[in-house]
Amino acid sequence: PHERAAVLHRVAELIAARREDLARLQTRDNGKPLAETRALVDSAAGTARYFASVCETFEGEMPTPRSRDFTTFSTYEPVGVVAAITPWNSPIASEMQKIAPALAGGNAVLVKPADATPMAALALAKLFEEAGLPAGLLSVLPGRGSVVGEAMVRHPLVRKISFTGGTSTGRRLAAIAADKLIPVSLELGGKSPTIVLDDADLERAVQGVVYGIFSSAGQACIAGSRLLVHRSLYDAFLKRLDEVVDRLRLGHPEHDGVHMGPLVSMAHRDSVAAYVASAVEEGGRIRRGGRAPSDPALAAGSYFLPTVIEGLSPDARACREEIFGPVLVAMPFEDETELLAQANDSVYGLAAGIWTRDYRRAWHLASRLEAGTIWVNTYKKFAISAPFGGFKESGLGREKGRQGVLAYMQQKSIYLGMEQQAMEWSR
Ligand code: NAP
Repeated sequence: PHERAAVLHRVAELIAARREDLARLQTRDNGKPLAETRALVDSAAGTARYFASVCETFEGEMPTPRSRDFTTFSTYEPVGVVAAITPWNSPIASEMQKIAPALAGGNAVLVKPADATPMAALALAKLFEEAGLPAGLLSVLPGRGSVVGEAMVRHPLVRKISFTGGTSTGRRLAAIAADKLIPVSLELGGKSPTIVLDDADLERAVQGVVYGIFSSAGQACIAGSRLLVHRSLYDAFLKRLDEVVDRLRLGHPEHDGVHMGPLVSMAHRDSVAAYVASAVEEGGRIRRGGRAPSDPALAAGSYFLPTVIEGLSPDARACREEIFGPVLVAMPFEDETELLAQANDSVYGLAAGIWTRDYRRAWHLASRLEAGTIWVNTYKKFAISAPFGGFKESGLGREKGRQGVLAYMQQKSIYLGMEQQAMEWSR
């Protein structure tokens, strides 16, 4: 564990030293603004440091036996080879979130980054090599998920699957894991409600809601994509939201002051546009955006305007399915019973946001929301020490936190006989 911790610390230092290069590499891969990719690089370094500390402080257990005839202790061992599969939206951070605890737990890791964004994982592997990680403990295998990813998880030596990505892929990988009887962790999609109660601080709530959906151009699993506002505040809230959305700057992700870069690909932009078209067909009114920008400087890129849609029934596709783009659907609610029914009416359960001045109300609401992460008067903030994962179809298992390492270990209990006489049984 000391050697593993030392490698993780050295990697954290190397990441910090190459911060700008790594951020630019990722921006070129997926189009996120530099401010965001710098934060992801910092997050990767922080995750490495955190799991280095877990290595140094991790302990086995000594469960007290209910007999003097033996004593017991329980150790944690590596599962073996881990297949880690990651999506394109936050490469270096989501890869480190799997690599660091897996290595801390003593495993070897094979990483299959998204086909669209393999560069960060490859750069990260080089840094691990430079940090002195023994050869073979970390390998990166870029390529198509349906080919490379599938072959990896089916390989008999792979003993654990750790996946972040869409729910349908997660379901497929879970079926393979079931067939092999190996553990699987799944961090999947979301359609997170962001709730504004009648006593919310309007300005803070508007700013938080805008950040929650439009940062990363909405390409975030935890994007607050369903806005539920108390009817008494609805008109004023939406009016202010329009003003803030109108000031968002779309542009080249390497330029200063840009809020939203392009989406990851033209195909993804088309998919977002198709969701907006379906919302209009189902009776939605577009308050803002709803199309690619007309600015000729952006015409050749896969940009999409920040979009706000209202007037939809909660059954509309745009309210139920993950769009994974800059599209917010806004709906009013009358009371907390209706609010809870609406907020929980989703196959997903990744996150939720609550804006209110009353923490007691927030606490009671939070306990009834079906989501793995609840933000109150903030959104999209992360601590590596706080476990993260989804309810319902948003996932299985938790990443991060001290317990995060347990997802990559198996427990073994050892009994030591303390009897002074031979066993009586055969006499
Ligand atoms: P995706 O299509 O499920 O792909 C994710 C990863 O799985 C990619 O590396 C992909 O490779 C690979 N893959 C695809 N099919 C596979 C198969 N049959 N066997 C093995 N691997 C396979 O998801 P995405 O569109 O890249 O990412 C967006 C999704 O990720 C969204 O649903 C988002 O909510 C979710 N997400 C969740 C979290 C979380 O923590 N809960 C975080 C970020 C993103 P290719 O690139 O070659 O297709």
